[in-house]
Amino acid sequence: MPTVVTLIPGDGIGPDITEATVRVLEASGADIEWDRQEAGSAAVPTHGDPMPDETLASIGRTRVALKGPLETPVGEGFRSVNVALRKSFDLYANVRPAHVMMLGGKFDKVDIVLVRENTEGLYIGIEHYVRIGDDPRAAAESLAVITRFGSQRVIRYAFEYAVAHGRKKVTLVHKANILKFSQGLFLDVGREIAKEYAGRVEFEEQIVDAMAMKLVLYPERFDVLVTTNLFGDILSDLISGLVGGLGLAPGANIGASAAIFEAVHGTAPDIAGKGVANPGALILAACLMLDHLGDTARAGRIRAALEATIRERKSVTRDLGGTASTREFADAIIARL
Ligand code: NAD
Repeated sequence: MPTVVTLIPGDGIGPDITEATVRVLEASGADIEWDRQEAGSAAVPTHGDPMPDETLASIGRTRVALKGPLETPVGEGFRSVNVALRKSFDLYANVRPAHVMMLGGKFDKVDIVLVRENTEGLYIGIEHYVRIGDDPRAAAESLAVITRFGSQRVIRYAFEYAVAHGRKKVTLVHKANILKFSQGLFLDVGREIAKEYAGRVEFEEQIVDAMAMKLVLYPERFDVLVTTNLFGDILSDLISGLVGGLGLAPGANIGASAAIFEAVHGTAPDIAGKGVANPGALILAACLMLDHLGDTARAGRIRAALEATIRERKSVTRDLGGTASTREFADAIIARL
């Protein structure tokens, strides 16, 4: 029986890189039936809504989606569909691996997976101004809410990820020396959960500012990282910078009832429609999806074919220093598969 997966091609370069990714998965023999749905700008003319009910219902049914990038209008227009999806399916863990594929950069050995708490902390959006005298905006307050429940599920996810992928160490990144209550709770929960994995997964604590420096100085010392929402937002971009930027950065959004896999980059309006976008990040996101579905061997084969194609540098897109089109890059990966 094939696994049914919701496929959202998305906006801008989305349809091109999605088509390339689907071809690579098919060539790998993955037994997937795609339930194609629309969202974002592409859905507005057909459904009058950037987040159609059919798309939400499909993800509710399949519980797994592969998604191209979606445009978010700046200032006016509809609100971010990505944020709406995160909220609708309570996607609490954002998983961002950073692995060196192109040698010859600053680092040759980075292989980090960052697990970011995705629903709490400073991003809950509870903020207000404080009036003093006749200044209505004399001060501003933003609440950072950390719960035991939210901390437990994301930290446990990080440890389970480490076990499932044969990884050795989980580093919890925090600022509990200053934010003794909110960050202190996250750290305490981490210490408790770490005891359950003693002997199987090493546990380490790092204060976020020192961590930023260590990631730049010796990233090879780190394995799985788990942290709260804001620190995760910043450090996940930092680690993608260590391995060459957005073109090869995949992300997974994991919830209790659904998981959505996507590239970290956006719709790249400057190159949309030109057929030159790098499909690598979405292909790697599809590999995370196969891992999630338990098909880790196939995910490994696709990653190896992508990595070999990139290291050969003959059939890569121009952002990686080549001249190939999206389609030609995918063809080269398929030939290796
Ligand atoms: P972007 O990631 O789309 O583009 C930044 C730069 O990287 C551009 O120069 C682009 O050409 C390049 N780039 C990105 N992906 C590439 C690829 N696969 N191959 C080659 N080059 C690539 O960021 P942006 O311009 O800030 O955002 C454009 C739109 O995308 C906005 O509407 C934004 O809201 C949206 N966005 C969506 C998501 C998502 O759906 N998850 C994520 C980020 C941005």
